[in-house]
Amino acid sequence: MAKKEFKAESKRLLEMMINSIYTQREIFLRELISNASDAVDKIYYKALTDDKLIFNKEDYYIKVTADKEARTLTIADTGIGMTKEELENNLGVIAKSGSLAFKKENEAQDGHNIIGQFGVGFYSAFMVADVVTVTSRALGGDEAYKWESEGADGYTIVPAEKAAVGTEIVMKIKPNTEDDNYDEFLEEYRLRAIVKKYSDFIRYPIKMDMSSR
Ligand code: ADP
Ligand code: MG
Repeated sequence: MAKKEFKAESKRLLEMMINSIYTQREIFLRELISNASDAVDKIYYKALTDDKLIFNKEDYYIKVTADKEARTLTIADTGIGMTKEELENNLGVIAKSGSLAFKKENEAQDGHNIIGQFGVGFYSAFMVADVVTVTSRALGGDEAYKWESEGADGYTIVPAEKAAVGTEIVMKIKPNTEDDNYDEFLEEYRLRAIVKKYSDFIRYPIKMDMSSR
């Protein structure tokens, strides 16, 4: 499939994020975990009213996996998933164009804190990753799709394999530079601290899997 371009607003926000020198890059994890939690909420509430959907408490969770060797950080959820169209519509466009206007307005006065306070959403993954891959299988569908992007120049969507309903987001963490440390986002103690700081209130278990590397 040919690479598709992001909508203009998304492109501007993406560029801003990629080039930003924020110390609060860590908030990308809050954003991805909150999206995962929203997705699990959706399936949870659906199961409450749909007798055909059998879910147990153990079925609802979010899992964070770091692989230092591969430099990947993965956020997986057992949520409602996304169809091909939803991947396209939800990740190809910035839903809240308001966040862009808000940020621009306030940048001059307080360039450092805005991003930490304001929901910036999915694209914040590009602050720490140079490739983001989202593999998702929607509830009720038997196909999975893989959305992939290296940032501002667009994204691709191709069919993929995924046995269970839900979403898996793999971030290829950027290499360290002289000024910036990205390795920290592959460190268990650091990831645990970020989760504790921003995602303590999430009502589903956040499992951490760092054991294998
Ligand atoms: P917001 O969460 O404010 O809507 P985001 O940029 O964080 O904005 O996410 C955009 C949309 O992408 C979400 O509204 C949701 O529809 C979809 N999305 C993102 N992550 C997931 C996920 N893990 N599972 C299902 N849908 C998701
Ligand atoms: Mg969000």
